[in-house]
Amino acid sequence: MILYDVLPRAICKYGKEKQTIQTIEELAELQKELTKLLIHGKTEGLLEELVDVYIMCRQIEMIYDIDEGDFEDMLFEKLKRLDKRIKEGDADGKIPLSAGS
Ligand SMILES: [Mg+2]
Repeated sequence: MILYDVLPRAICKYGKEKQTIQTIEELAELQKELTKLLIHGKTEGLLEELVDVYIMCRQIEMIYDIDEGDFEDMLFEKLKRLDKRIKEGDADGKIPLSAGS
């Protein structure tokens, strides 16, 4: 897959610190797009920023040696917790928005 070819080369070319900073910037851009969506109902930039964040998150996994199995385990646990909250509801009766921590 092109992802596993290009991303290591990006990390090599730009460096771990720069790619980490770029990740922060892309997260801010996604935050801005989500804010625009909530305030103005506009989704024009949402897909692009979601993809940018996805690409940067994959680089972060590579840079900081996030184990794929550990990631899958954590994902599974978080999804199980979210599923439980959806089914049972929180103690305060609020609808859960995410798996949270
Ligand atoms: Mg961007």
